[in-house]
Amino acid sequence: MRKFTRFVAIATLLLLASWPMPITAGQVGDELPLHIQKFGDRVLFAWVGDYMQTIRVVALSTARGIVVIETNLSRSADVRIRQAIEKEFGRKDFKHLINTHFHHDHTCGNQVYADATIVGHQTVPEGMRGELTGEGLGKLLEMFKSHVQDWGERQRKAAPDSREYHFFREGVLLVKTTIAELQEGFTPTYPSILFDKALILDMGDMTVELYAVGGTHTPSDIMVFVPEEGLVAIGDMWPDQVLPYLRKEAPWDLGAILENWGRIVDGGREIKHVNMAHSDMGLSVETYKQQYRYLKTLWDGLREMHKRGATLEDAKKKYAIERDFPYFKDRLLKVRDVNIHENNVEAIWAKLGGSASSSEGRSS
Ligand SMILES: [Zn+2]
Repeated sequence: MRKFTRFVAIATLLLLASWPMPITAGQVGDELPLHIQKFGDRVLFAWVGDYMQTIRVVALSTARGIVVIETNLSRSADVRIRQAIEKEFGRKDFKHLINTHFHHDHTCGNQVYADATIVGHQTVPEGMRGELTGEGLGKLLEMFKSHVQDWGERQRKAAPDSREYHFFREGVLLVKTTIAELQEGFTPTYPSILFDKALILDMGDMTVELYAVGGTHTPSDIMVFVPEEGLVAIGDMWPDQVLPYLRKEAPWDLGAILENWGRIVDGGREIKHVNMAHSDMGLSVETYKQQYRYLKTLWDGLREMHKRGATLEDAKKKYAIERDFPYFKDRLLKVRDVNIHENNVEAIWAKLGGSASSSEGRSS
């Protein structure tokens, strides 16, 4: 049985090596296909792969140089993306790379833009060091090696040409490449322009506004807004399909998040597109605004109730998705048996200081 499994594995590898793949710009052999999407003359999106989630990089061609938002897990993917950006924009003057948060799948490729100044929240270097050096890096490599095994197995079990098959095929290619890249020639490359709450980059004909909204995904989460293009870029906060989820144990400060988020959605400036970092996820402009309204309504309303000495039971009765936020009624409202909305009310209430009406939570 073992021998047979090994035979199947080898046969599969041979098959993979000769697997006919659609030819896309900049693709060689087993590389994941490269995709470019233009958003006007000065903005483009670039990512690799059709099935496995990778990072959709944003590039801005400004009067003061190229600004890139996000890098990938695979350095070679970023090399190809960088070349595509140079070709599309007809220039090579990379001025800034912006990290939306510290996670390895968004920062491993930083060294591809070592000639630019890298910008991120002040907690990005610490987070990157935890994942990309010493013990953290060892753990990451172990995880990727187990993915190669596990995903390879699942690919072999999947129906030929099924979506699942292609998902795992791309995944195995991606993590194998990443393992090799992390073991040789990898230099964690940290941002050198760091900020706490907000940072505005004046790029001449474009303004790149960076706002800290940390605490729900990582402490380093930011939102990027380019008002001249009506473009927002976020990292890994909440995608279209799900109601925003405030994990109880996470260190978010909702008042501070909403204050910065409000500068983007409440400032009267048009938003035309939101880039959600992962290539397999989307976030519509409408959902992005509704997420803000939902959290703002809860935050303002629950603070008011808390001040008046209401109980958590009162608070839970006050807001219902169907009645008060029907926009979200068909979205994912439960995760692993947790009712997200109920959880959010409890989480906010706990941050406000629980049932005691005397202690008001930090509001900014
Ligand atoms: Zn992340």
